[in-house]
Amino acid sequence: MSSTLPVFQSESFIMSLRSIPRSHREDITLNLKRIDKEDIRRIRYLKGEFKHLKKYRIGDYRIFLSYCAECYNKFRKKINCNICDENFMERIVVHSIDKRPKLYKKMKRRYT
Ligand SMILES: [Zn+2]
Repeated sequence: MSSTLPVFQSESFIMSLRSIPRSHREDITLNLKRIDKEDIRRIRYLKGEFKHLKKYRIGDYRIFLSYCAECYNKFRKKINCNICDENFMERIVVHSIDKRPKLYKKMKRRYT
């Protein structure tokens, strides 16, 4: 048993959550709050241009997230992440959510 991690919702996540039906939003945020340290390590990274982000699935939705402890240690030199803080590593940052394949188009717009 390991403890759950606090979840930080980035502005882009909050924006993308608005396009999700209200009835699903609560389930999604509750699900995210249940992710613990063991779970987060098992969630896979994307490949290619977004390889600093992990892809997590809830039902039909795909969520792009990162774990600050890993983001900071592995990717700090490659990407300019302005969310992770070396004094606050044990948390999850959620970046975006949508149904596939809309999510990929959105991410492309946002990060390229
Ligand atoms: Zn980061």
